[in-house]
Amino acid sequence: MIDFTTKHRQPTKSPLSRLGETRLRKMIGFDPLYFIAVAPAMLLAFWAQGRVRHNYAVASQVPAPLSGAAAARHLLDSAGLQAIAIEPIAGQMTDHYDPQHKVLRLSEGVYGHRNMAAVGIAAHEAGHALQDAYRYAPLVVRNLAVPLANFGGSTSMLMVMFGAMIPSMRILIPIGILAFSAVVLFQLVNLPVEFDASSRAKKQLLEHRIVSQQDMQYVSGVLNSAAWTYVAATLSAVLTLLYLVLRFGGGGSSDER
Ligand SMILES: [Zn+2]
Repeated sequence: MIDFTTKHRQPTKSPLSRLGETRLRKMIGFDPLYFIAVAPAMLLAFWAQGRVRHNYAVASQVPAPLSGAAAARHLLDSAGLQAIAIEPIAGQMTDHYDPQHKVLRLSEGVYGHRNMAAVGIAAHEAGHALQDAYRYAPLVVRNLAVPLANFGGSTSMLMVMFGAMIPSMRILIPIGILAFSAVVLFQLVNLPVEFDASSRAKKQLLEHRIVSQQDMQYVSGVLNSAAWTYVAATLSAVLTLLYLVLRFGGGGSSDER
């Protein structure tokens, strides 16, 4: 979903790639080149998260006719998806659709609140449920990529580091880089999934008259800035891959303090 913060990337998102990236940062954290390489992504993420917070705060002040839960229920029912449950979940911006259990979980600020931020986020999550129901191709690919990305995120750095440190294990470097490219693949295919969920949300909110054309700017503000956080995450993965290739791809001669 909308993963505003980064922490919400639960079931649908990638706790995996995040985990991998954290481990990666810890391991090559000594290398200033790495920070230079990913700096553009970090700046973009910082900016996007600021926009999300700002737009969320603004949209929360604009009333909507339905609560987030009621709006999502309406959109799902209209699509014949009565079987998908909607549950409240603790925390802020923890909203997500769980494709495994077919449950839409909405955070406290979204579930019972009637404002533009709540209906926008709820409709975005409902959009993921619709993608799932219609077997939207990028979502299918993304779900297939999850285990690979999980594996790549958690092992790639170890492999690259060992390969760089131990000459006889140099073969681990290209294998590790290949494993990390699964994380990049996941992030890349995640972009159309997220963009599509948001465009479905906007379209449906208008069609079902939950949001007027005038108020759509508030919903768009939240969803569009959230989309930038995904772009930042993807850029971060791509730049990390580039860094790995340039720094270690040449045969692992790099230093390894
Ligand atoms: Zn989403």
